[in-house]
Amino acid sequence: MKPFPWQHALWRQIIDLADRNRFPHALMLSGAGGLGKEQFAKALTARMLCRTPGEFACGECRSCRMLTAGHHPNLLTIEPAEKGRLIRVDSVREANDFVAQTAQQGGYRVIYLQPAEGMTIAAANALLKSLEEPGSNTLFILLADIPSRALPTIRSRCQRWTFAIPDEAECLPWLREKLGNDEDARFWWRVAGGQPLLAVELGQGESRQLRQTLREVFEALVRGAEPVAEAARIDRQALSSVLWYGIAWLEDLIRLGLSGETAQIRNSDLLPLYRQAVKNGRVRDWFRLLDYAREQRRLLAAGSNPNAQLVLESWLVRWAALLRS
Ligand SMILES: [Zn+2]
Repeated sequence: MKPFPWQHALWRQIIDLADRNRFPHALMLSGAGGLGKEQFAKALTARMLCRTPGEFACGECRSCRMLTAGHHPNLLTIEPAEKGRLIRVDSVREANDFVAQTAQQGGYRVIYLQPAEGMTIAAANALLKSLEEPGSNTLFILLADIPSRALPTIRSRCQRWTFAIPDEAECLPWLREKLGNDEDARFWWRVAGGQPLLAVELGQGESRQLRQTLREVFEALVRGAEPVAEAARIDRQALSSVLWYGIAWLEDLIRLGLSGETAQIRNSDLLPLYRQAVKNGRVRDWFRLLDYAREQRRLLAAGSNPNAQLVLESWLVRWAALLRS
């Protein structure tokens, strides 16, 4: 496994540290979810465990083969039991036991933990103990989409590596391969706010269709359609994505409304609709709606269980009111 093409500079820096034995015992890799930091972390794990590494793990030694087969005695992976749940203290206690043992056949031990901001308080406190007394040849790799939500005492014990939004040129060849052509690659990269993995996810299959539907709803609302009737066209399971697009489009609107410039617009195909909305709306109201959308998304992510259909309708009613105010 290798890092993605846009991660090569960061990879060189981190490998350089490892090769000079300057590696800390804990890293926190942070950055938006669609930048591919999991793959980077896995490539790094493989290289740390590899017995004959070059720039990357060799892929052929006994250690690499064990890793490929899905079990390595010197690797412990800690993740929530289910997506969206918190990491519990018993998982972290496993890490403490693991750290207390000696690495098999010498070499490094790696504890891979994600998401670092998704632990119970008890789990985070248990982890602190290991981070303070990690033993030799032990590397903790923690991943966080939003590091500010991780416990400060955990953050401060890790060396932080931040994944920034890559330049278009760094990810364009990869995106072209995934999405088929240059035009789609550029378009979805911008829609995804520069996150390549997210661009591929949004630009394919049902996600691609969802954006098309939302665009049609946007057009209909600008023409004066009834929002509750429009809500019926949208799958309520997609609420989180609907709000994600709502936020992105509002941010576009605010950029356009404040500066009048189009260079920073992420959804250029919506420009005619934005212009119409800018003519009718007021920036203050867009900020208010933006807060509403962010709050609803936060509630959804926190697993509080709002009535999705109701939130969807309420969102479109507000969005429509803003387009016509
Ligand atoms: Zn190897």
